[in-house]
This record gives sequence, C-alpha cells and structure tokens, in this order.
Amino acid sequence: MARVAQPAGSEVRRRFRLRVRGTVQGVGFRPFVYRLARKMRLSGYVLNDSAGVLIEIEGLDADDFSKELRTQAPPLARIDAVDLLELAPVGDNRFEILDSLAGRSATRIGADAAICEECQRELNDPGSRFFGYPFVNCTQCGPRFTITGALPYDRARTSMASFSMCGACAADYDDPENRRFHAEPIACPDCGPRLSHPVAELSARLEGGAIIALKEVGGFHLLCDARNDAAIDLLRLRKGRGQKPFAVMVRDIPAARQIAQLTDAEEELLTSAASPIVLVEALAGELSNRIAPSLRRIGLILAHAPAHFLLFDELDRFSPVFPPALVATSANPRGEPLIADNMDAELRLSAVADLIVTHDRDIIMRADDSVMQVIDGAPAFIRRARGFVPEPIDLGEDGPSVIATGADLKNTLCVTRRREAFLSQHVGGLDNREAIRFQLEAAAHLCSILDVKPEFAACDLHPDFRSVRMAESFGLPVVRVQHHLAHIAAVAAEHRLAGSVLGLALDGYGFGTDGSSWGGELLAIERHGWRRLGSLMPLPLPGGDRAAREPWRMGVAALQAAGRIDLALSLVPAHCGMAQLTAMFSHGMRSPVTSSLGRLFDAAAAISGTRLVQTYEGQAAMEFEALVRAPRSLPGGYAIKNGVLDFRPLILRLTETGSGAADAADLFHGTLIAGLAAWAAKGATSLGTQQVALSGGCMTNRVLAVGLAQALRQHGLKPYLPRLAPANDGGVALGQAAYARQVIMNKHASALESPTCA
Ligand SMILES: [Zn+2]
Ligand SMILES: [Zn+2]
Ligand SMILES: [Zn+2]
Repeated sequence: MARVAQPAGSEVRRRFRLRVRGTVQGVGFRPFVYRLARKMRLSGYVLNDSAGVLIEIEGLDADDFSKELRTQAPPLARIDAVDLLELAPVGDNRFEILDSLAGRSATRIGADAAICEECQRELNDPGSRFFGYPFVNCTQCGPRFTITGALPYDRARTSMASFSMCGACAADYDDPENRRFHAEPIACPDCGPRLSHPVAELSARLEGGAIIALKEVGGFHLLCDARNDAAIDLLRLRKGRGQKPFAVMVRDIPAARQIAQLTDAEEELLTSAASPIVLVEALAGELSNRIAPSLRRIGLILAHAPAHFLLFDELDRFSPVFPPALVATSANPRGEPLIADNMDAELRLSAVADLIVTHDRDIIMRADDSVMQVIDGAPAFIRRARGFVPEPIDLGEDGPSVIATGADLKNTLCVTRRREAFLSQHVGGLDNREAIRFQLEAAAHLCSILDVKPEFAACDLHPDFRSVRMAESFGLPVVRVQHHLAHIAAVAAEHRLAGSVLGLALDGYGFGTDGSSWGGELLAIERHGWRRLGSLMPLPLPGGDRAAREPWRMGVAALQAAGRIDLALSLVPAHCGMAQLTAMFSHGMRSPVTSSLGRLFDAAAAISGTRLVQTYEGQAAMEFEALVRAPRSLPGGYAIKNGVLDFRPLILRLTETGSGAADAADLFHGTLIAGLAAWAAKGATSLGTQQVALSGGCMTNRVLAVGLAQALRQHGLKPYLPRLAPANDGGVALGQAAYARQVIMNKHASALESPTCA
C-alpha cells in the first residue's frame, strides 16, 4: 500500500484506509477506534480480519486519526505497523463496527493480564454487579492465552464456551460503548465461573497456618503465611523442596515497600499488566527467614487476579501484622510441571495442601508465573511465562517457519511465523514424563494459536537430549545448533544485530562440538558461520553430573588444576568422599573436563566455604553472589593465553584463609569481571567488531552481568544483554530457531563450526 504524506489540518473531506497489525484483537481495539472516530466526527467502519484490524475513516480531520490511533491505543494493544492508503471519499455519514472477516489468520492472541483499575473498582463497589466477583474481567484485563485453544480469538474457542452469558453480560458484550464490548471471557455472578470455597474460609485457614492450593490464572499455586516458620517448613517438607527460595505475594506497592527495598524500575515491573515475580532486596526481619535461606533478594509478586484482592481484603481485616504476606509457589510436585486441572489437583495435591480451592473455568494452557529482575537498568527474564506468552519477538525479516525444541533444562520451545518468533511458556526440566507431555502440549497449542505448520525443526547437538528426540519426531528437516551458539544467537536475534558478533556464553553446561562439556565460551558469529575463539581453562569434572550437585567436587578439581591438591583436605572439612577423591587425583586419575563458568563458580563457593552440597540448581552461585559487597579485581588474578582464560591465580588466592567468604565473593566477582572483559576485548579486536552479546545461565547473576556490561563499555565495546528471552536455557530455543533460519536461508553456510583460526 502507498503511504500518503499530507499537510495536517486539511479543510477538505478525505478518506483513508488503515491496516493495523500487532496485538489488536481481544484488547478493546475496535471500541476504542469507534469512540475515537466518533469523537473526531469521522465516518467509516472498523473490522477484525485475518491480518489484524482494518479501518476506513472519512472526514475533515481524517489526517490526524493515524497519530491519535497510536498515541491513545488501549493499554494491552500493541501496534506493530499501520499502513495508510488514501481513497476517494464516499460520503457516508456514520461510523460502524462491522462483522469480522474470516480467512487464514496471521493475528494473535494476547497474553494474560492483571486485573485493571476499573475492574478493581467494580470489585469493591457494592453497587456494581461485579462486586466481590473473583472472575471479573474486561477487554483491558483478565485471562487470554491460558483459556484459548485456537484462533480466531472468540468465546467459542475459549474455556468460557460452556458458560452462556446472562442478559446483562450479553448487553455489555454487544455494546460498542462498553468496556466489555467483545470481552470474550465476560462473566458475572449470575452466569460465570465460581470458586469452590468462600474467600473468608481461605483467609481463616491461612491465618491458622494451613497450606492452601488455589487455582489461579495459569495453574494451581500453593499459599501459606509468609511469617509462619512452621507452615513454611511444612510446605518445604511436603513439596520435597530443600532450600530453594519461595516467592512472596503482597497486595500492592505500599505493602511491598514494607518488606523490600524497591527501585522505580522494579516497582514499574511489579505493577505491569504481566505482573511477574520480581527479584528485589528484602528488608531484613520482615518475613520468615525460611523463605529464601542465605539469599539477600526475594521474589516478590503483587496480587494480580480478582481472587487475590478479595483474599487480601479478608487478610487485611484480621492479620495481626501489616502487611499480610503469603508464600506463593507453583503447585508442581517433585519438579514436574505446574498442575492446572481440577481432578489432577485433587489427586496429586491432597498430600501437599490442607485445602484445595478450585473453580470451574478450565485452564486450557497452563503457564507459570514469569520471574524477572532489573539488570543494568532494564528488565531481564529468569523465567518467561504468564503475562508475556505469546507475545512475539520481531526477527526483523521474513523467513521459513521453524519449530525449535530448546534445551533439556528450563525447557521452552520456539515457533517462528514470518518475521516473528514465539517463545513458549517455561516448560521446565525434561527429566520426567509429565514434562515431556507438557512440552508436546505446548508445541501443539502454540502452532494452533498461531495457525502455523512449521517446515523445519531445530534442536541441540547433544546426542541424548530428550528435546532432540522430540525435534526428530516431527518428520521435518532438522537443523542442529550448538548450545552456546544458540545462547548467543538468541541475543543477536532479539537485538537484530547485523555483521560480526562476539559472544560470551557464560553457562552451566552445553554439549560442545568436540563432545566435551562447554560453558565458558568466547564465540564469533560471522557472515559465513561461527567459530569458537576460546574458552575458560578446562577443569576436571569429577563424578560427571554429581559434580554439578556437589560443589566440593569442583573445589577439589580446581585445586588439582592449580597444582595444590594438598590443600583440599585442610580447606574443605572432612566431607565424605573427599579423601577418596583427593587420593584419586593424587594417583593421576583422569576425569572428563569442562570449561563451564557455572562449575568454576561452584569451585569458588566450595573453596571459600560458602557451600559444599547444593539442594537446588545454582544454589552455590546464588549464595556466593548474595555475599558480594563490592566486587574488586585481584591484580594478576587471571591469565589469557591462546584464547584460553585461566583463573587459577584467583583460585589460589581464595585458598588463603582468614578474610572470610564475603571477601572471597568480592574478589571472585571482581576478578571474573575484569578477566572476562579483557578476554572479550581481545576477541573483539581480532574479530573487528564492537558488538558483544552476553548470555548463558551465569548472566542471571546480577553482580556479574552489571559489572561485565560496565567493564565492556569501558573497553569501548557495546554489550548486549538478553532482554526478551531468559539468559539461561529458557532462551536457547529462540537462538536455535533464529540461527536455523539463517542456515536455511543460506546466510550462514552451515550450522557446523568453521575451522578455528585462534
Ligand atoms: Zn478490567
Ligand atoms: Zn452475567
Ligand atoms: Zn545453557
């Protein structure tokens, strides 16, 4: 379509056709257009079709309409593009909302959104028919992704199909002036879903120390009083959850400020429509110390569903301490995916929860809470799910449709459609049958709501990954993308980096092209392919997978590598197996090696006495990060030779006892930042680029990520952090899909590594 530029304030009657693309269906866009057109005294029509929203407007002020459309669009709408075409005026005299046009759909379903202010007002207004109703929603808020099975987005394809609207709801639904015009999940106490128990009973039980399973937007959550040590201990015991931190829910920002120190950016994130869990600095002594043992930051989430507000209303009335705060954790027994089905909950949560609270609006697609933190001034994901899925990531150009199956830990999938990539919600570890079933479910659902049939599959290089088996099962041509290349390609894709990109992949584990364990990699992505410029100095990996669970093993391995195995027994107090491992090293045992930064963190945490055995993945590194006061670099703490970055001098310094674990944490983080930045600077010079993509699980360490970004800038480089997908393995599928598309479109000769020059 031709774009028309005309001087504003025209005195003549003109007519335009506007084609609007983006998230513009199911978010109150047509009523907004209707009201705007009427306000501007324009005639014409608006309708939904397979490409988005189509508008024709005619009148004296028609020129200004496009600008107003962008600046005043409803909060949940996302306008990607408006194409404008001038037509001859037809002289119509009213503005109408026309019926939708069918056709193969290229539009999309919105993400689930927190209750809006107006619905909250109605929830509290005794004069409103929505007073006290836990399922109140409108076009500006409420569930979407989790209740919808297919396109186009209308009630018949959602789990609201079984509820027929009462007269009042039907009238609102049909009234273009109403906020609930075509609000597909519209419901009220007369016609909609119901909670199985009165909210007052929930609050009374919580006050009494009970654990409650509550069905929420994306699945069941387990709740208990965040100040009740015994309840939290019991929850850990019943859930089989060692010391892994729990998230905490409070009512609103004033309540959040009572228990945490918040920045403006964190408050903005907490109150956003997506309502994620945000990692924030906890104020000491406000909540039970059982929530996040040995950590300074806690995951905080605000009430975001109507039922939460009703619950906090009750708790506010009776709670002896202000503000009421609840532990809120996904109901996912034994690390399996979140439970979302009523029968499943009765069956599998009765041993965990004292009370199971359900409702009769089915969850068609489950989604955990998203988890985020503010890094280097902007939000970053730790887990991307409810509130963000299925928002697309723009790849900048059209390409074939690819389905990428991600990694086996923190699994997500990615499906591309034309120029957009859609990352699935967090699926989790693929080490159980439930998770594999969930992954298949998520893949089918994503393809269904996108109305797309992938032509290619992409996956990891690992020969035994379950995610790889899944990609092979589709019967499509498969492109295999090395794990750390995928980490870096994801960052390059979301920032749409062109030209050569240097990548620092700082990670736990990934299968290398040489078959060994990689995880501290300096990679180059160039026009014709990619190559490994260097890695961290490999350390022995005694005990394979056990080394990742037992940091003391990595402590011994690092001492062995540094030539001081003699220190092992004195540093790490007699741990069972220690003497045996030390003796084996002394007798020349050769074990597999790893260049993983995650394992180097484990080694440092063990040597400094911070943690010898982990009860959850990443515990040693998280506790070590929590000890940092001010990172400082040890002069001579690292060496760079032939592309290999060697931190053995730092490891030896950490063995000098006396200064304590906090000092070790400061030194380790500071030296790591300095060494990695110097290493990247050398790589960037040899590659002739300033673009440095940072990714991998270690980049969820905020001290490291912020310090490294700053240090790279001081070297005159441009650091790019993952913003739209997690830095950890939750973002790998995006990189697999994006890189596979490049290979398929022949931009890169091959997904295989190019011969290394270094
Ligand atoms: Zn609302
Ligand atoms: Zn109703
Ligand atoms: Zn990884």
